[in-house]
Amino acid sequence: MAVFQLLFPNAQLSRTDLTRKLGLSRMAVGEVAVEMQEHRIVREVGSLQPAGRGKPSPVIAIDTAYWRVISVDLSQEYVITGSLVDLCGRIVERAEMPQPRGKKALAVKDVVAFCRRLVGLAGSQDDPSEDSHAILGIGITMPGIIDPKGIVVRSVALGWTNVELKKQVEDALGIPTMLSNVTNAALIAERFLGESSENSMLISLRRGVGSSLCLNDQIVRGYTFTTGEIGHIIVDPQGPRCTCGKTGCLEALLAPSRIRQMIDDAPEKRTQILAQAGQVLGRVLSVSIGLLDVHDICVYGPADIVGEAFLGSMREEVHAIIHSEYRQVPELRRCEQGEDLAMRGQAVTVIRQFVPQIRQNIAG
Ligand SMILES: [Zn+2]
Repeated sequence: MAVFQLLFPNAQLSRTDLTRKLGLSRMAVGEVAVEMQEHRIVREVGSLQPAGRGKPSPVIAIDTAYWRVISVDLSQEYVITGSLVDLCGRIVERAEMPQPRGKKALAVKDVVAFCRRLVGLAGSQDDPSEDSHAILGIGITMPGIIDPKGIVVRSVALGWTNVELKKQVEDALGIPTMLSNVTNAALIAERFLGESSENSMLISLRRGVGSSLCLNDQIVRGYTFTTGEIGHIIVDPQGPRCTCGKTGCLEALLAPSRIRQMIDDAPEKRTQILAQAGQVLGRVLSVSIGLLDVHDICVYGPADIVGEAFLGSMREEVHAIIHSEYRQVPELRRCEQGEDLAMRGQAVTVIRQFVPQIRQNIAG
């Protein structure tokens, strides 16, 4: 896995480079590289002639041609998106289906059928031909609380309570499956395909308001798997009524739909409304930022809201609250990746979990 991690997602390294970076013998690295090539995890992309004499060293990169991950995002309001992703985390094929309308909850059998459709896009799994691909695993991401065994404990948006989604997908399709919360998946994407560091936070302002936390390169889950679920914490007891029944929740103040409504009601105050929203978020988060010593924060939200008025004011507020002689203020930026963020992040989780098992499974 160490070789894979050095190459992921887009590096090209010679065996000599790998030997040096891993501190292993030339022969050990050579053996691992050959084995990984046989399993279609990496491939040779050229060779590097060393300075002076000596044999050229093969240059290797991740093989994107064979393995595919199926990644499904259940978090969007009107549409369910799915894709086939290569081992670099790049989407190579897409599919969509509509979310059920009105009060009707999404059925697990529909998710299974959608995954089956994506398996079909990868080509026949029983009769592998030249242009068919092997499926590494399935990743499904959604809003809500998900336990590590793959049970959706609660997803208000999907209307699900204690749904054994992982088991049902695996039983139906026979492909290892992983679930995750959509904000955690978004942070994984920012961490491995974007710019987030190993001590980072992602704030998501989309259908609801949520966050995700990465400390020492681990996504923090918490005692009841609800780390980052900040949407329904009361931040202003005099504030507006929230959809959850409480008053003044963070989500009641900052949900994009509410901010847009305020701007529609008073378009001339647009900049002021956005700046106030950014200030509220900065104030609410400052204690956590100081407590946890994060290095950088990424805000994931619609461009009409998370712009410079919002971010500038949030940055100022965080700075005013936590800056001191011995404490740096974390970097704060807007997430530049689009709607595919969580879907790609979930694919990365599957890749990191299951690539090491390719070799174990074949060896076993
Ligand atoms: Zn609430």
